[in-house]
This record gives sequence, C-alpha cells and structure tokens, in this order.
Amino acid sequence: MQIAYEIASDLEFLTDLRRDLHQHPELGFEEERTSAIVARLLEEAGIPVHRGLGGTGVVGTLQVGNGTRVIGLRADMDALAMPETADRPYKSLVPGKMHACGHDGHTVLLLGAARYLARTRNFSGTVHFIFQPAEEGRGGAKRMVEEGLFDRFPCDAVYGLHNMPGLDPDEIAVVEGPQLASSDSWYVTFRGIGTHGAKPHLGKDPVTAMATFLSALQTIVGRVVDPLQPAVVSACSVQAGNPQALNVIPDFVEIGGTARAYTPEVRDQLDTEIGRLARGTAEMFGISADYRFERRIPPVVNHADATARALSVAREVFGAKVRTAFPPSTAGDDFAYFGQQAPGCYVWLGNGPAVDGALHHNTAYDFNDAAIGPGVTFWSRLVERELSAV
Ligand SMILES: [Zn+2]
Ligand SMILES: [Zn+2]
Repeated sequence: MQIAYEIASDLEFLTDLRRDLHQHPELGFEEERTSAIVARLLEEAGIPVHRGLGGTGVVGTLQVGNGTRVIGLRADMDALAMPETADRPYKSLVPGKMHACGHDGHTVLLLGAARYLARTRNFSGTVHFIFQPAEEGRGGAKRMVEEGLFDRFPCDAVYGLHNMPGLDPDEIAVVEGPQLASSDSWYVTFRGIGTHGAKPHLGKDPVTAMATFLSALQTIVGRVVDPLQPAVVSACSVQAGNPQALNVIPDFVEIGGTARAYTPEVRDQLDTEIGRLARGTAEMFGISADYRFERRIPPVVNHADATARALSVAREVFGAKVRTAFPPSTAGDDFAYFGQQAPGCYVWLGNGPAVDGALHHNTAYDFNDAAIGPGVTFWSRLVERELSAV
C-alpha cells in the first residue's frame, strides 16, 4: 500500500493521539475533552470549525478551489460504560469507561485526513469533517440532524467507516446494500391480578402468560418473516415478582427486548407481530397487555452511487485487499440517519485478528494502530477523487 509522505510522517503523532484518546474515554454527549481536542487540531490545520452541533459534535469544513460538489465524512467519538480489563500502557484512566468499539481510532483517522488535506489541498470542492457524539445508543446522529446538520452543511454524499476485526488492517470491505440492521426496542407489560401463590384461581397469573409469549416469540422470525430476509427478535429483560416473596403471584410482568431488520418492510412486520403476539397471549389468559415498539435506529443501507465511488477509491488504495462481499452486521449504527439525508456509503476497515478473541464491546478490545495509515489514506484519497480537480 502506498502511503503518502505527509501521512506517513504524521503517523507517530496520530498514534500517540489515538492512545491518549483511549486513555480518556468519554460517554455519549459527554465528549468535552475529545471534541475540544478535535476542534483545536482542526483549527490548527486552518480548517474553520463549528462547535456544539448535537451537544459535543464538531464539524470542520475545508473548501478548496471552485468545485461545487460537497461531501461529508463522519467519525464517531464516544466510548462505552464498561471497564477495560486488558493491561496496556494506555489503558483507560476512567473506571467503568472504555473505548471498546474503536471510536478513538475513528476520530484519529478523520483528523489525520483533515490534517493531510489541509496541507496538500489537492482537490476542488468542499468536505465537511463530521465528528459525531453519542453513537452508542444515545442518539448523537439523530440529534445532529435535528439541530440542522444538513441544513447548515448540505452534502451531495456522506461516508462512514467502522473498524472490523477479522479483516487485515490493510484490508477494506465496501459493499452495496444493507450493512447494519435497524435497532429498535420493544416493551410488553402483561397485567393480571396478583394473588396468593397457593391460590392461583383467585387471581389472573401474568407469569404463565409471559412464559407462553416468550416460547412463541421466535415463531415471528421462523414462521412469519420471509426466510430470505434476515431478522432478529430477542427478549433481553424480564422483570416480575420478588425472589423474597415466592408465595406471591405478581400483578404484572414487564418484558423488553430488541428487534433487528434490514428493510423497512420487515421492520414494520416485527413491530406488528410482536404486538399481535402480546395481545393474543393476553387474550388467551384473560389478562391485558400494554405494548410499545420504539423505533431507535433505521438500517444502514449503502447507496449504489456512493458505494461505487468509495469502491473505486478502495481499489486504488487497498489493491487486491478489497472485499465487495461481506456479511451485514446485526448491530446498528446511527450513521443511518445521515444516510437518509444524502446518498451514503459505510465501509469496514480491517482491524487485524481478534486478539484473545476480543471483539467489539469486549472489555479487552482495542483499535489497531496499524490501521491508521490505511484508514487516513482511504479518507484522503476519497476526498481527492470525489472532489476531483479535473
Ligand atoms: Zn459499538
Ligand atoms: Zn462502533
């Protein structure tokens, strides 16, 4: 892989910065330190900065020449509320917080590209460097959009990147179509009539209804959704009764879970069917059910034109190590909100083998610094090619 001199000579700085961010993880909408560093480095590179969009979000805008095309590149900055267990010299200094998804790396890749592009200015057009807060389930992208991200900074295309263990650090996957699933939450409350555990006939037992509901839940994916369409329904929380009161049948049971899909149709289907099953089960047992389906993040679906543009750059930078087929993830990413505003493409940059089996959101996960050079080069060439001077 060819890494430009200006990028290669910045790698030591970028690696130190990545490790510094790793040591100082901040949760969603609390990225005060991280976003201050981002804004300062952009300004030092001569890039005008807009602070405070979406709370701690930062947008840097670099305009060169008279090209009219505008693109947005997005990096997420937040960490996770979990302890770091692996010993490393730059281990998290904040108890209970760590960069277990590699967003420290994403931040540095985009900063590296901004620094390179501001120095070399070998393109014609406008690039917005979008540093997003709160990707991990706290709604950072949605808030940036609601606060006018694309009104202030309209984009003809928008790109996102995530590190991916299992691919080499000099390898990338650029694939058209679904990349990440929708990520929605659902809530069911079965309301019965609490009674003595020895006298169930005097009440209406919601616990048995809950058990019937849960044992039937997977029939939605197995029997209702098209077998060629991926879908996941999981119950992840069940709250009822009290382990200190084993002779009491409770009044109600609360169940919550997640639902994942790759198309709006299947997403609607999961919403409808979980509700139908909850109400039908309640009816069966003569009790009632409250149901709520909360739409959190749409699926990330790569647009054909943006994907073709990213793919041609990937082939130029990564040579033969470009994958055009890669299984979509059942995780979600709120980059989906950006992809609803402009043609979007979300790519997977290799992070090397999973060290000791540690994958995303594992207490030992770490971004691989060997991916900094390839990642910065990809972002930089994408801008130079997308906003071609010729
Ligand atoms: Zn994550
Ligand atoms: Zn992530």
